[in-house]
Order: sequence, then structure tokens, then C-alpha cells
Amino acid sequence: MEKICVAVRVRPPVKSDEDSNSNCSHWKVDDNRISLHRSLSGTPLPPALSYAFDHVFDQNCSNSSVYDLLTKDIIHAVVDGFNGTAFAYGQTSSGKTFTMNGSENDPGIIHRAVKDIFAKIDMSTDREFLIRVSYMEIYNEEINDLFAVENQKLQIHESLERGIFVAGLREEIVNNAEQVLKLIEMGEVNRHFGETNMNVRSSRSHTIFRMVIESKGKDSTNLDDAIRVSVLNLVDLAGSERIAKTGAGGVRLKEGKHINKSLMILGNVINKLSEGAKQRGHIPYRDSKLTRILQPALGGNAKTSIICTVAPEEVHVEETKGTLQFASRAKRITNCVQVNEILTDAALLKRQKMEIEELRMKLEGSHAGVLEQEILKLRNDMLKYELEREKLAMELEEERKSHREREQCSNGISSQNGESLRKNLKEEASSTQQGDAFSTPTFKPIPNSFVAKRCYNSTTPVYSPLPDAFGDVVDEDTWFKMNNGFIADLDSIRMTPPKQLSSIPSFDKIQDSSIDNYKEVENLRKQLQQAIDERNEFEKQHKEQVALNNQLMEEISKLQEIPQKLSESLGNCKAVNEEIFSTFKGFAEDEKSATANLFSKTSEFVMSLMSSFEAQIYMAMNGFRKADDEKESSYSEESKKKYKDCTLETQITCWKKEMSDEIKLIKERYENLEEELDMNNQLLEASKARIHGLQKESQVLSEERDDLLVTVSDSWKRSASLNEQNEKILQDLTCEIQKRKDLEDDIKQFSVGFVSRYKSYKLFSSEIKSKVEHLKAQKPFALIS
Ligand code: ADP
Ligand code: MG
Repeated sequence: MEKICVAVRVRPPVKSDEDSNSNCSHWKVDDNRISLHRSLSGTPLPPALSYAFDHVFDQNCSNSSVYDLLTKDIIHAVVDGFNGTAFAYGQTSSGKTFTMNGSENDPGIIHRAVKDIFAKIDMSTDREFLIRVSYMEIYNEEINDLFAVENQKLQIHESLERGIFVAGLREEIVNNAEQVLKLIEMGEVNRHFGETNMNVRSSRSHTIFRMVIESKGKDSTNLDDAIRVSVLNLVDLAGSERIAKTGAGGVRLKEGKHINKSLMILGNVINKLSEGAKQRGHIPYRDSKLTRILQPALGGNAKTSIICTVAPEEVHVEETKGTLQFASRAKRITNCVQVNEILTDAALLKRQKMEIEELRMKLEGSHAGVLEQEILKLRNDMLKYELEREKLAMELEEERKSHREREQCSNGISSQNGESLRKNLKEEASSTQQGDAFSTPTFKPIPNSFVAKRCYNSTTPVYSPLPDAFGDVVDEDTWFKMNNGFIADLDSIRMTPPKQLSSIPSFDKIQDSSIDNYKEVENLRKQLQQAIDERNEFEKQHKEQVALNNQLMEEISKLQEIPQKLSESLGNCKAVNEEIFSTFKGFAEDEKSATANLFSKTSEFVMSLMSSFEAQIYMAMNGFRKADDEKESSYSEESKKKYKDCTLETQITCWKKEMSDEIKLIKERYENLEEELDMNNQLLEASKARIHGLQKESQVLSEERDDLLVTVSDSWKRSASLNEQNEKILQDLTCEIQKRKDLEDDIKQFSVGFVSRYKSYKLFSSEIKSKVEHLKAQKPFALIS
């Protein structure tokens, strides 16, 4: 864990303000402490505020000493593979840009860092480097590329391999410091500059100069040949002052808001980080582009330094206080720094090789144990074989014994031979020892005695002569007791090569009968061996047969499962069929219609088909079971008689025959079932096709019905409208009729009136005529005039 290195730098006072400042308050730098001193009418007061930091640079401090004390270590660490960040924070015109970029006479941190990095790289002899540089600004929360004006509004991305990065940002591969400085100069031109009444030339954007340093060991044989990738961020932040103070408006106000917002978020991030791991909670890195880009530098994997620049003037006291508080909080942040290594394939391979080697060593260490175990196992096996061999030897011995017994019983030679042998032995003993034959164990054993023969290939045994009572046949226990614990060499029985066994002829003096016996024993031994071989062969065959039987049984059980499966699938078919027909029935609206009838008949037919198929499957299944039962019973009855006296071979052939018969039967049944299944499938297909056809028909019918319905409904509508029209016409007609009637009545009344009037007119005219006539008659002259 590493604390962020925080320093404060006081800018030299601006000349015009110098006189007024001296009278009121001023910041005093004392070693790594900065304090605010006030004076009242020239009388100094105790310091009102005092802050201590890693470094405090006064107005006379040059960029060179700032670099040496604050940034140099970080720059060197960056060359060694650590991430590094240095940023300048402070109000506008407090000297951030001066610190980062410097002047002609006093180059800034960026300039010095670049030079220093290349100087260090040149000094490095064991590593080769690849350096890329980029230069960006964050203006109004938009990231712009200062190396390529066309790269505007770039986005921040995050990936496992690259971490947080700005997509589309131009990265120039550089080889020397001059090249970098030229590029920076070019980038500077693209920076956004504005003017406020606070400073003639004020930066309104954050700028981040970034160097990515990749390095790799020159020595390819070096096992630690990992690629190191480190990033150096040199950040010149925009002014941290409050907008109100700048008197900004319009575009400047917007800029100010963004600057303040991102700096406020930077402040929040610093606040959170300074709270300590436990209380920290969520850190709002993502709230601004600045904090997002600087995330690894703030509370992450980077050696970080912050230089807080302050203006000494009285007028900026509040801003300076704010900057110093920010610096104090930043002081509490700790980062977790580590070298960033990327393993190349070669390095990975080498490391893996080393691991493999280590594992191999470990394995070899444990291999001894494995070998020991192997040896133990072999020893055990050897002992087992020895025991088996012993057993076989015992069998052979028994065989020989019984053979001898048979011989003794049948020929009666043994006593004679024994006598002569004993005679010989006695003679030999007396000739060599001339004393007590039983007390002097010096004579050679007789060849026709089993125990003696077993000792032929051992060193010449020395033991007592046989007592008469035992003859030439003696059991091993007795011999052992008598022989003072001598153990016969059992190996010689099987391990001795025939040539050594042919050493028997050296016993020329031994009687012919004993040689015959020996030959006989050899013969028997051979026969026994043959019998053992045969038995082994039988055992092998038996095992094979058992395996075959098991296989067959498995096959049978699988075959027996088929009808079961068939019946299951048939059940499913039935269910599906029922469903289909119920759906079809649903189509046929009228239950008595021909379609419905057809559907139900088809359904019945298919169902009966399936039932018969099911019955057949059931029968087949029962047939299997029955066959099983029959088989069992036949086994139990017949096998008692048939197989009792059978030899293993005949038993096996019997089983084989039965099994093959059974398999044939099963195969036949299976084939029959398959045929039936095929047939049923065909029927099913046919019925399916039929159903399909019916479905189509029903579909056509339903379509027709729908069409008809549509037509009917249309005509219904039309007739309804016609009816309406009719009714209307009828109404009109009745109206008209009524009107006519009324008119007729009127006419009638009129005509009546007319007639009466006419009559009255007529009467009147006749009256007038008569009157005129009367008047004419009375005064004819008067009327003419
Ligand atoms: P900022 O980037 O914080 O807005 P500048 O770096 O542009 O401020 O500084 C404002 C002015 O003060 C510049 O003219 C700069 O040359 C001058 N200045 C700042 N710091 C110093 C310093 N330590 N020594 C000499 N001049 C300085
Ligand atoms: Mg600046």
C-alpha cells in the first residue's frame, strides 16, 4: 500500500497585486508546511490556518526541483513497469500549466519526464522498450484527441487486457524525447483556450498526456522474460475556481459547469478514497470522464502524485483554502501498486517448463516408493508362484506315491527289491563305515526313493540310512524327522533340466527295476502335466463360454425389452391417435354428418388396429416369459438327468446348442415381431395418409363452409338492407297513399263545393240573366247608352 504523494506549490505573486497583498494576509511556506498569516495594520497575527504536505514549494521553487522531489521517482518506477500518474490541481492562473509544461527557461514536468524516461531507457542494457504516446483533452465532458483534431468525442472502454482505455485515441510510437516534445507542441495548438476576466489565457479543459511503456528483456534465455506494460499519465487539470467568481456566462458558463462538475466528482472520489477502506462504499469513478480515466491512478494500481498549485494573492484566499483542503484529503489516499507484467508465450513456456521440471523432480522422489511397491508386488507374486509350484510338486509326489503303491501291490516286487536294496545298502555301509549303519550318515541315497531323488541336484546330502520298516517309500514328514531337519531341494523337481536328470545313469549299479520305476514316474509326471494343461485349457474354454453366455443373456434381455418398448410406443400412438380424432370430431360440427361418421369410423378402425397390435405384442411378451419358464423347467428336470454325468465339454456343447436354439427361436420371434411391426407401421402409415386426406378434405369443406358463411352473411346483410329499404319505401308508399287519400278527399270536397258553387253560380247567373232580361225589358234605352 502506498500513499499518494501530495505537494503544494505557491505561484509567485502577480506584480499588480503585490502591494495590496503585503498589507493584509499572505501564505507563508515553512519547510513542508504552508500557513495563512494575517496582519492588522502591519501587526502580525498568529497563523489562522496551517497545512502540512509531502512537499510545499514556495514561489522561488523551480520546475526542476518540483520534478526532482515529487515526480522523478514515479517516472523511474514507470520505466520499471509500474503505473504512474502526476496531476496538477488548482484554480485558474495558479500555475498548473506552468508546472506541467513549464517555460522555455524552466521546462515543466512533462518535458523533464519525457527526457528522463528516454535517458533511463538509454541506460538500460538488459531490456528493450516500445513507447507510445497520446495526448487528449476533456472539454465539456467530451474527450478529444490532441494529436488528431478529427478524433472528437471519443469513448471510454474497459477490457480485461487493456483495462480502462479511450477508444480511437491516436497513439504515436516514439523513439526519442525530441519526437515526443514536438508532438506535444503540435497537440498544444489544438487545445481549447478561452478568456475570462480572471486570466488572460485560461485553460478550460483537462489535458492528459499519456505514455505507454512496454519493455521486454533482451536476453531471450532469461526465465523471467515477461513483457512489462506501464502507463504514465501527466494531467493538467482545468481551473478549480467557482464560476460566479469568473463572471462567466453563455459558453464560458457551460464550460465552467463541466469543469466544476468533473472537478467536483474528482473531489468526491478523493473524499471517498480518503475515508478509509471500511467506510468507503461506492466510489463514483464513472460519474465523470476525468475520474474514469484516472481511476487506476486514484485508489488503484499506480504511483500517484498531486501537485496543488495556489495563488498567493489575498483575493484568492478562499480558492487557495479550497485547494489546500482538497490536497489534505488526497493525502489520505493509499494505492496498491504493482509491476504490470504480461507473460509472453516464450516466457510462459519457460515457466511451465520449470514447473514441469519441478513436478518431475517431485515425481522422481516419490518414484522410489513406487519402485519399492513394485518390488514388493513382484516378491509376492514370486512367493505365490513358488507356493503353486510346491502344490504341484506335492501332487506329483502323491501321484508317484500312489503309483508306487500300485506297483507294490500288483507285482510284489517291491519287497524283493527292498530286500536286495537294503542288502546292498548294508553291504555298502559296512564296507565304508564298518560300524553301526544307523549312526553313521555317510552313504548315498537310493535312487528309487522319492526323497532321495529330490535331492539329486542339491549338494550331496548326508543323512542316516533307512530303517528296514520304511522300505524304499517314505513320507516327507517322517523323512524330515529322521533326517535331522534336512529340507529337500524342491526346485530340482521341475527346474532341473533333463540333462541333469539324466545323471541317473550314473547309478548304474542300481537295479533295473528301479530305473523302470523312475521311467514310469517320469511318464506319469508327463501325463499329469498333460492333464493339468488340459484342465487349464478346459478352464479357459469354460471362461470363454461363460463370457459368451453372459453376452447372449444380455442380448436376450435386450430383445425381451423390445416388445415392452413397442407396447409403450403403441400406447403413445394410441394417445396421439385419440387426440387427433377428438380434434377431428371437433371439426365436424354436426355429429350425424358424413364427415363425423367417417371420422368416428376411421378412429374405430385405427383403434382396433392398434388393439390387435397391442394384443400381439402382449402375446409376444408372454411368449418370452413362457419360453423362459419352459426353459427353466426343462433345465431343472432334464439337466438333472442329462447333465449329471456329462463331462464339462459335453455340458458346454449342450449349453451352446441350447443357447443357439434359443437365440434362433428368439430371432425368429423377433423377426416375426418386426414383420408385424412393419405391417402395422404400413397400416398406420396408410391410416395416417387416410387421416391426412380426410384432414385435407375437412379443411377444404371447412373453407367452403366458411366461404358460404361469408356469402350468407353478406346476402343476409344485403337482404336486411333491402328489407330496410322496402320498409322505408312501404312507409313512403303508405304516406303517399294517405296523402293521395287526403288529396282525393280534398278534391271530393272541392268538387262538392265546386258543384254547389257552380249550382249557386248557375242560379245566380240565371238570376242575373233573368234580372237583366227584366231590366232590359223595363228600360231598353237607358241600357244601350
Ligand atoms: P493555470 O494553468 O493554473 O491556469 P498558468 O500555469 O497558466 O495557470 O499560470 C498563470 C501565469 O502564472 C502564467 O503566466 C505563468 O507563467 C505564471 N506562473 C505560474 N506559476 C509560476 C511560477 N511558479 N513561476 C513563475 N511564473 C509562474
Ligand atoms: Mg492552465
